[in-house]
Amino acid sequence: MAIGKEISEKINDLVDRDYAFMHICGTHEAAIARHGLRSLLPARLKIVMGPGCPVCITPQGEIDAALDLVERGVILATYGDLLRVPGSAGSLESSGGDVRVVQGVHKAVEIAKGTDKEVVFISVGFETTAPTVAATILSKPPQNFSILSCHRLVPPAMKWLLEQGEAHLQGFMLPGHVCTVTGYQDYEQFPVPQVVAGFEAEDILLGLLMLVQQVRAGAHRIDNAYPRAVCREGNPKAKALMYQVFETADVEWRGFPVIPASGLRLKKEFEHYDAQKKFEIEFKKVSKHTACICDKVLRGIAQPSECRLFDRVCTPRTPVGPCMVSHEGACKIWHTYKEKHQ
Ligand code: SF4
Repeated sequence: MAIGKEISEKINDLVDRDYAFMHICGTHEAAIARHGLRSLLPARLKIVMGPGCPVCITPQGEIDAALDLVERGVILATYGDLLRVPGSAGSLESSGGDVRVVQGVHKAVEIAKGTDKEVVFISVGFETTAPTVAATILSKPPQNFSILSCHRLVPPAMKWLLEQGEAHLQGFMLPGHVCTVTGYQDYEQFPVPQVVAGFEAEDILLGLLMLVQQVRAGAHRIDNAYPRAVCREGNPKAKALMYQVFETADVEWRGFPVIPASGLRLKKEFEHYDAQKKFEIEFKKVSKHTACICDKVLRGIAQPSECRLFDRVCTPRTPVGPCMVSHEGACKIWHTYKEKHQ
């Protein structure tokens, strides 16, 4: 961490005003918290987490749709992180249905191959996971397999955040994992300092230093602090696969309204694998729990510790909102590493 110390000293020397940078990645938040990076930074530099946890931004209406499927007797295959996210009437874990935790879509297909029952995979994630799901659909899985597509795309949410301006951000740390697939061309439309950063403490500090330098210079460009994994064009094959199978859709995010072209749904020729179509399911708009401020946390205008339920009523054992459930959720991360925030 000697290099990290050097970089953080440079940041401390350069910070001459209030800065607020957002990252959009649960893995970044976990690394920042685990390494106690906020304690190395000047008080005038704020790092906020945005909508970077795919489980957290899945709105309640989609969780309720999954619960509806369970009630209809399908086998639901899901990542473990979704199990305890509260829906309107309990969670997948408490549903009593046939809900199976899988490590990926391929495992859900294996389950479908071994049964005559309908198997639905809850397909959450950003551009990082969508290409794998697309490849699976192209491999022609059995007809009793389908996906509930809850995928989201990062740039439209960033556009929304910038248009609203409520978090008063000076720049963004772009999600390194997502950018390995997409590259960062799509982010060039945003006239704001941006940096692609990796996940070691030094990567994150270097990214922050580059952001501070851009702000001080009055510049706005995309610096790549993660060139060992990310290039401007990303992975063209993965992107092509994704758009061979999916098309964009206007979808709601938890804490956000419907954002144009921010989701992915299966194209018409693959709709027999679309659980929404197969089971005629509608995603309904659901009002949030009044005291939970996950919506504000996801928009970067509140921190977990500002929630009056944090670590009192709401804990990982008794989660009230999704941000306390997922290992990429800000509240769960802050709960896990809370000593390092003080
Ligand atoms: S602490 Fe719990 S109730 Fe509060 S914002 Fe986080 S998840 Fe929601």
